[in-house]
Amino acid sequence: MYDLTTRDIKFLSGVGPQRAALLDKELGIRSMYDLLCYFPYKYVDRSRIYSIREVNGSMPYIQLKGEILGTELTGEGRGRRLVAHFSDGTGVVDLVWFQGIKYVTGKYKVHKEYIVFGKPTLFNGRFNIAHPDIDEVSELKLSAVGLQPYYNTTERMKRGFLNSRAIEQMMSTLLAQVSEPLPETLTPPILAAHHLMSLTDALRNIHFPANADLLRKAQYRLKFEELFYVQLNILRYARDRQRRYRGNVFRKVGDVFNTFYTRNLPFELTGAQKRVLKEIRRDLGSGRQMNRLLQGDVGSGKTLVALMSMLIALDNGYQACLMAPTEILANQHYDTICRFLEGMDIRVELLTGSVKGKRRADILAGLQAGGVRILVGTHALIEDAVSFASLGMAVIDEQHRFGVEQRSRLWTKSERPPHVLVMTATPIPRTLAMTLYGDLDVSVIDELPPGRKPIVTIHQYDNRRESLHRSLRKQIDLGRQVYIVYPLVKESEKMDLRNVEEGYERIRAAFPDCTVCKVHGQMKAAEKDAQMQLFASGAAQIMVATTVIEVGVNVPNASVMVIENAERFGLAQLHQLRGRVGRGAEQSYCILVTGYKLAQDTRKRLEIMVRTNDGFEIAEADLKLRGPGDLEGTQQSGVAFDLKIADLARDGQLLQLAREAAGRVVEDDPDGTLPENAVLWRRLKALRKTNVNWAAIS
Ligand code: ADP
Ligand code: MG
Repeated sequence: MYDLTTRDIKFLSGVGPQRAALLDKELGIRSMYDLLCYFPYKYVDRSRIYSIREVNGSMPYIQLKGEILGTELTGEGRGRRLVAHFSDGTGVVDLVWFQGIKYVTGKYKVHKEYIVFGKPTLFNGRFNIAHPDIDEVSELKLSAVGLQPYYNTTERMKRGFLNSRAIEQMMSTLLAQVSEPLPETLTPPILAAHHLMSLTDALRNIHFPANADLLRKAQYRLKFEELFYVQLNILRYARDRQRRYRGNVFRKVGDVFNTFYTRNLPFELTGAQKRVLKEIRRDLGSGRQMNRLLQGDVGSGKTLVALMSMLIALDNGYQACLMAPTEILANQHYDTICRFLEGMDIRVELLTGSVKGKRRADILAGLQAGGVRILVGTHALIEDAVSFASLGMAVIDEQHRFGVEQRSRLWTKSERPPHVLVMTATPIPRTLAMTLYGDLDVSVIDELPPGRKPIVTIHQYDNRRESLHRSLRKQIDLGRQVYIVYPLVKESEKMDLRNVEEGYERIRAAFPDCTVCKVHGQMKAAEKDAQMQLFASGAAQIMVATTVIEVGVNVPNASVMVIENAERFGLAQLHQLRGRVGRGAEQSYCILVTGYKLAQDTRKRLEIMVRTNDGFEIAEADLKLRGPGDLEGTQQSGVAFDLKIADLARDGQLLQLAREAAGRVVEDDPDGTLPENAVLWRRLKALRKTNVNWAAIS
């Protein structure tokens, strides 16, 4: 068969060694097949020709037909440019080149008819088009007159005259050579079941679509294929792991759980908590190792569910641990758990970087002997020195701070890997969760404990300080506490810290009778803790801080969250911060303070925050506004991968279909040995070889 994957791109006519090297270096394109898989990022309708008289400044790309009246070279040094005056009889536009002047000069002739394509801009009272595409009228092929493909190129490629147009040319040469169908990368049943176009047709139409309908079909097929292999990769891996590791079977719910449930639990579980606990119990009894992602908005009661899951482990003779991303959080979890388990004879210990010496040795010995039943801590938990007698359940709080790798290090802590429950308060849209954590099952707590009032969110401009201070005063007089948060990023750290200091001084001046505390990342841990403690105990009414308080801190009496420079935060982060209030029974407020001038995207973000408290809705909006690559948490997850054509924000439904198809393949062919699937496994292997991130997941 006609295998383009092994044909070096340099043998394509018009490429040669130099361009081949450039393609490899800049785009990773080595084979002819690689080139075919370099898809256009947009298409421009070239079916319409405008007259110069019609041109106005708001037009995107336009096409003109006319002749060059004359050219001139103007400007000095970096401003040097070649200008060609181009006319169609209704007016004149200037075609301008800043680079490649030598190449262009002499290429185009005066008084010959050309079709010119580009974006018009008004300059010195006349329209010009910089670096236009130019074709001789007789040469413009029919295919290019419909939808013309546009390819991304790098600066270095452009300097080597390897622009979109050049790639289009190569693509056209290559496709003209393809005389027989290319080997399929999906099986006939999959193609049939999903009404997919053949690979060869899809590749032809993705580059040179005969019409919009065929383009859509080609995109559909290629997106499906891309998502299918991402899912096949993840599901096959999950399946392998399931077979490799048997899970500890927790047969019973015993005294520990029941005592807690009937005696210690101070309130009713919410319906969602009950449902999720059932899901977890089913996993724990199944003989499979549990890997479950527990999603729920801040304050939805995940920690409690996690604790009760740990108690089931204890009931079955195992130990449990809970790992938090920061020391402050670990401390807080430790306190919470101790309080919940009061009066029950269960040894709970805290292990963080600051637990040292004899105390540490004591805990480690207790773990090994089995006397320590629950261990709460930070990364310190996965250090080599820590070993358990029988770790049966590991809970990880705030997944996004821990990579897959760290998660898997937990498995080495006992003979059989423990069941793993990952809690995250960053609601990840389902589509993304499926793709990122395809090896995890997902449980969602989508209900807040009763009595919580939805947080009221207000957007306020920063020139209205007095009114802001009056609102804060009202809350403080009611006995509530207030957070005031400032952004802090590396690039502008000095200025950011100055803002925090200024804000702190301003607040102290405005509230002379209040105790104001201050926390930022530059402070020593002990100092930070002391300030936090001041606030948590209620001794301080106002806390001025940078985003260190973002994760998990729980002060139910705090009812106002003021976010300064709110325009500088992403949606997910704003939502996290807002979740610090609204934990008690009183009405809580979140005030987003910004300057007056705001970008459109920023306005949208603020509007969404004001409109809804629903973390999932916010996460979906975030995905749409920013795209999945930027989504907080995905970077560090270690399972990031590049999608060439599919878009997680838009192709959620297709992802679901692709996942089901991949699931069926793994189900029917667990060993990857069925001859009819050989093509799939071969393709997956090839993809894993070329895609660094894919290989990282196993
Ligand atoms: P999360 O970890 O999801 O942010 P937490 O588990 O910290 O939420 O719960 C937030 C607060 O709500 C805690 O004070 C917790 O004790 C309380 N809580 C949890 N579940 C319930 C419930 N079913 N009814 C009332 N309060 C609850
Ligand atoms: Mg929590």
